[in-house]
Amino acid sequence: MGSPTWNSPGALLVRGVNWLGDAVLTTPSLGALRAACPQARITLVARPLVAELLGHHPDIDGILVYDKGGRHAGALGMLRMAGELRRGGFDRALLLQNAIDAALLTFLAGIPERMGYATDARRILLSRPVPVTEEILSLHHAEYYLRLLAQLGIPRPENPALSLRVTEDERASMRSRLASLGVPEESRILGINPGATFGSAKRWFPERFAKVADTLSEEWDAGVVLMGSVPEMPLSAEIEAAMARKPVNLAGRTTVRELMALLASCSFLVTNDSGPMHIGAAFGVPLVAIFGPTDWRKTSPWTEKARIVRVEVDCSPCHLRECDRGHECMLGVTTEMVCAAARELMAEAR
Ligand code: SF4
Repeated sequence: MGSPTWNSPGALLVRGVNWLGDAVLTTPSLGALRAACPQARITLVARPLVAELLGHHPDIDGILVYDKGGRHAGALGMLRMAGELRRGGFDRALLLQNAIDAALLTFLAGIPERMGYATDARRILLSRPVPVTEEILSLHHAEYYLRLLAQLGIPRPENPALSLRVTEDERASMRSRLASLGVPEESRILGINPGATFGSAKRWFPERFAKVADTLSEEWDAGVVLMGSVPEMPLSAEIEAAMARKPVNLAGRTTVRELMALLASCSFLVTNDSGPMHIGAAFGVPLVAIFGPTDWRKTSPWTEKARIVRVEVDCSPCHLRECDRGHECMLGVTTEMVCAAARELMAEAR
């Protein structure tokens, strides 16, 4: 495999991944790419929510939105997107997303160098396919993307780390919104993220989140803020109803940028394995993450400031969306276990 001239000027396209959490885990690779290509113009093409997430990111010069649910839907939509990429004059494309769609899109756009993992039968569409070995598949997802870059000749940074940016205005606006809802600007915030878009198997129980939120917020004199997406609003309403203390419930009431500003403002986060968990980790928020059906070795928060709470069950990781075995992996995680992990980490973080 010949080595590309990464530090030459030119237009470099990065096809980002589709899930928010995975997108956070690609940020160490974006940092590595920026360091290797200081003169290139780096443009990200990504789905709308990921485009929002990576707005203002210092390692990206521009973002193109690939709206497969809207103007880029279907085969005609893909051709329209390919046309937009063609007009961008890109000479290289790095595909972080593994689907055949990403390879086909850059092939149709006529981008000469198309680099990515040789997954999904797309080897023929890539100019530089990188074989996926069993060892690569066993890596943590952040390392998986870094390895792709290393295979393409981009050195691993000395201290790779997650990175996201919110502006001072976004942060200040969230703090003033919280203040108007009863959480003063100077007060500590305990974030509770009880959802998981992937499915109910990843979700711990609302009454247990409520108990943890009451216990820790009283001990730490913190305001509690519940977060989540629109479909998760009933879940947060259940937690709110079960709590003795009154939380601020922002579930279903934040954009991606507002959710980021909220997470960046948290003093501590209790969460399921989910996109907001990774966002919180990128902002250096100390957090406890409850894991059940997913593989904590591959998708754990990529930070020293996290504790994973889980129990050993022989069916985990199952990667099921809905549990068909009695949900022992979550039932075994008690409120005492979560509070103990949170206290230990908070004591270290102080
Ligand atoms: S099958 Fe096992 S690991 Fe999967 S959700 Fe159910 S109890 Fe958890």
